[in-house]
Amino acid sequence: MYFIANWKMYGNTNSLNTLNKVIKFSKSKEINKGRIIYCPPFTLISSFFRKFQNCLIDIGAQNCHESDDYGPHTGFINSRMLKNIGANYVIIGHSENREKGETNKLINQKIKSALKANLKVIFCIGETLKEKKNGKTKSVLLRQIKKGLNKISKKKNCFIAYEPVWSIGTGKVPKLKDLEETIKFIKNKFGKKKPKILYGGSVNPKNINDLKTIKDLDGFLIGGASQNSKKFIDIIKKTYN
Ligand code: PEP
Repeated sequence: MYFIANWKMYGNTNSLNTLNKVIKFSKSKEINKGRIIYCPPFTLISSFFRKFQNCLIDIGAQNCHESDDYGPHTGFINSRMLKNIGANYVIIGHSENREKGETNKLINQKIKSALKANLKVIFCIGETLKEKKNGKTKSVLLRQIKKGLNKISKKKNCFIAYEPVWSIGTGKVPKLKDLEETIKFIKNKFGKKKPKILYGGSVNPKNINDLKTIKDLDGFLIGGASQNSKKFIDIIKKTYN
């Protein structure tokens, strides 16, 4: 199972000490089959890379520019630059960026550039509360998948993170029955080679006991709770207990 920490726009150099507990945990037997990936803000990627030198914790970024080449794009960072400083993953299509105007087309360009730079992509999809209430969840997810992965033949390096927008940072999670059905729906949209499917949205040490029972899930994308090492470790421990 994958446990991916999305630190969003939080953290500074003082936060590095909080990682000691997780590094120790990652070297213990309790980590079981768990794989940890941290996605800190851009400013901390290099420091995290050095910090994780002697352990198996991997690193990702939270976004990238759509161009895989260098260019006159003030204030942006591309996938090659991320790979160059030690990132192996990148989150693309997070709803917090979609809300600010990131389109499916732009997301598709970003995914292509990230794959070209040999990054693995954590591709976020999810419906808003309004779309859910109008019974549009499946059609929204299908459009996001089709357009986001348009003309991408090798999908093995794309993880799909199902993150209902109404669940992010709200403490609300889907009913287990609904979540299981949605995960199955997403998986069935792919052929024989199924991508890894993650769930994200208010995962915490309390609800993990229920969420871990969802069939066919390959892991979790964790925002708020991942910034607290104890909570993050608890989530992983409880997944295996
Ligand atoms: C996220 O932003 O990807 C996320 C899952 O956040 P949270 O866990 O805080 O809901």
